[in-house]
Amino acid sequence: MTITHNLGFPRIGARRELKFALESYWKGESSAAQLEAEAARLRAQHWRRQAQLDFAPLADFSLYDHVLDMSFLLGNVPERAHAHEGDALDRYFRIARGRAAGADRGCVHAGEMTKWFDTNYHYIVPEFHADTRFALDTTTLARQLAEARALGVKAKPVLIGPLTYLWLGKSRDASERLALLARLLPVYRALLAWLAAEGVDWVQLDEPALVTELGEDWRQAYALAYEALRGSGVKLLLTTYFGRLEENLALACALPVDGLHLDAIQARHEVDAAIGLLGADKVLSLGVVDGRNVWKTDLHATLAWLEPVQRLIGERLWIAPSCSLLHVPVDLAGEEKLDPEIRSWLAFAAQKLEELSVLATALDHGRSRVQEALVENAAAIDRRRASPRVSNPEVGAALAGITLAMGERASPHPVRSAAQAARLPLPPYPTTTIGSFPQTPEIRAARSRHRRGELDAGAYEDAMRFEIARCVREQEALGLDVLVHGEAERNDMVEYFGEQLEGYAFTEAGWVQSYGSRCVKPPILYGDIRRPRPMTVAWTVYAQSLTDKPMKGMLTGPVTMLNWSFVRDDQPRAVTCRQLALAIRAEVLDLERAGVPIIQIDEAALREGLPLRRAQWQDYLDWAVGAFRLAANGVRDTTQIHTHMCYSEFNDIIAAIAALDADVITIETSRSNMELLDAFESFNYPNDIGPGVYDIHTPNVPAQEQIVALMRKAARRIPARRLWVNPDCGLKTRNWEEVLPALRNMVAAARALRQTAGHAPAGRAEVTAG
Ligand code: GLN
Ligand code: ZN
Repeated sequence: MTITHNLGFPRIGARRELKFALESYWKGESSAAQLEAEAARLRAQHWRRQAQLDFAPLADFSLYDHVLDMSFLLGNVPERAHAHEGDALDRYFRIARGRAAGADRGCVHAGEMTKWFDTNYHYIVPEFHADTRFALDTTTLARQLAEARALGVKAKPVLIGPLTYLWLGKSRDASERLALLARLLPVYRALLAWLAAEGVDWVQLDEPALVTELGEDWRQAYALAYEALRGSGVKLLLTTYFGRLEENLALACALPVDGLHLDAIQARHEVDAAIGLLGADKVLSLGVVDGRNVWKTDLHATLAWLEPVQRLIGERLWIAPSCSLLHVPVDLAGEEKLDPEIRSWLAFAAQKLEELSVLATALDHGRSRVQEALVENAAAIDRRRASPRVSNPEVGAALAGITLAMGERASPHPVRSAAQAARLPLPPYPTTTIGSFPQTPEIRAARSRHRRGELDAGAYEDAMRFEIARCVREQEALGLDVLVHGEAERNDMVEYFGEQLEGYAFTEAGWVQSYGSRCVKPPILYGDIRRPRPMTVAWTVYAQSLTDKPMKGMLTGPVTMLNWSFVRDDQPRAVTCRQLALAIRAEVLDLERAGVPIIQIDEAALREGLPLRRAQWQDYLDWAVGAFRLAANGVRDTTQIHTHMCYSEFNDIIAAIAALDADVITIETSRSNMELLDAFESFNYPNDIGPGVYDIHTPNVPAQEQIVALMRKAARRIPARRLWVNPDCGLKTRNWEEVLPALRNMVAAARALRQTAGHAPAGRAEVTAG
């Protein structure tokens, strides 16, 4: 019999129940007992949803993050968690989010958060130092085991393996993480022995670090560690996902465990080799249903490939999703507003598990046993493939017509810069913002009334125009140099554009956890992208009509649209990205034609798309940069292109950033104290830069002197004539009471800088570093 199992189920709940339970608890509106009860109810519900599987995951659930759970399980709790009174739950939330709940006013530094491999999920980074000690604490795990036992669930605990756990963490004192392995392994051994005593049969040890390029020391540590875990009393399923193992495949196959899981979506061609390398006793678990995307599995094609594998290895074959289903929405049921045809192409977590059952039945009892499901699946797959909604010949023709010249500006930056200065006389240290202004309760109320049909389109547009006018007025009063319209009309920087493009669909509840209680609802890019009509021109032109100051048009770039959507799996991402680029390019040219002198194209997610393996970076950067250039660079010399990126690591991609050839780039720097400008300095980055001087992620208002000091620091690295003064990111999550004084200080700081920069009334070109 083919064993079916799952690597992890979305924990947030189909209606984001966990989010609401957490937020109510944090606000002090519910008790810890209520939170725990809701968590237990969700776990039980998730196990019920997985009842058809041979093994359901356990400990995939988490109140905040499974990596943080692992740190607590291993007793690696940062000292500051104990800085205030409280119990284990308080300590947990203190590290997760900087504070416990309700009345707890004792704040500590939250643990650093970073992206989980190449997903949009963020985990809390384990903290290490030379004398980190570990000590097993099974409290949380024991509770979940007891729940599963009481419900009669056949559960397989899911834990992060020792090497990936170390690999995910950061050393705080430059000590070697691997040096901790000798202390860590006994705790893992004790953990596995404890699980064996609890009657656990199989344990899933996640080692996705094996899909990355590992140094020889790490590879050797793998061999050593798993040797040490041998004979613990439980069977170990070593689990890899998110890519191919390549040079680590032989190593993974040789480790003394009882089974190996491969991501058979991304690493299918490694399966044959793995069968050869695994030996005759080990289980081979194949991730045959895509855990990273929302499309139905082609069951016929999967069976055609899987049946011979089963004939070869028989009972040793297990099947599962490729990775945890954490990265897809919970259930398609209830998506009533989704177009029925598009809906029939999709599978969310619940549907993916059904697919798994169909596959297992077909493998064990023949395809005829699941005839109906297979026929239905084939019909959906065929319909999608042939749908005129997916492929649009017009888009194909436009793509074929792309030339390299379309991505080139007419003149190099110094020439453009002079042409732009002649058109737009800006002072030295010009001030601007990143685009959005506070999304006030009034704006949100208008939008939801419009969505519910209580406010017609005309009244909604009037309300948005009213907000735009307010925003322009405030910016004029502040004395900013380059204004924005404030993005009142936008719900989300990707969804807003997706809704106006052909080829995109939207769910009502397709939520995916991003971190803690935060979820995102990525739109679904299902077909060729076409822009039927201008998307932002009317709003921008209206805003420009209200002021003599230059108005900056605001667009989301093609790479960010791609990286923050569920995208089609029937063509390379690079092709989809080029289609998006053509749509944005058309918008850029329409804005230019309408007289908009400055256009910003946000690429907040450019870095996120970097492949896990460095060897693949250049290929990605080439097509991503190409897409941006295609979108941006069709304009005349006198049109100024800005881009914005909200992160602070540029060292390893600075060449690609320069290759975008944007006239101005605004970046996040205020937290890193301008250090990240080092990358721009040593690369001799040639164009203009606006290093963020106002950290919009906190309610704090930066003082004028603070901003001046940051900019002085910047001017030591980048010639002052190429510096702009602006916040770190958009202001939509802040309120006006914070934003106004902060921007007032920012404008005052820029004026002070101009004074000391001295003379140079004629334009920016003459300013020298102060
Ligand atoms: N223009 C967008 C805004 O200001 C940029 C947001 C972002 O970088 N994430 O909101
Ligand atoms: Zn940003």
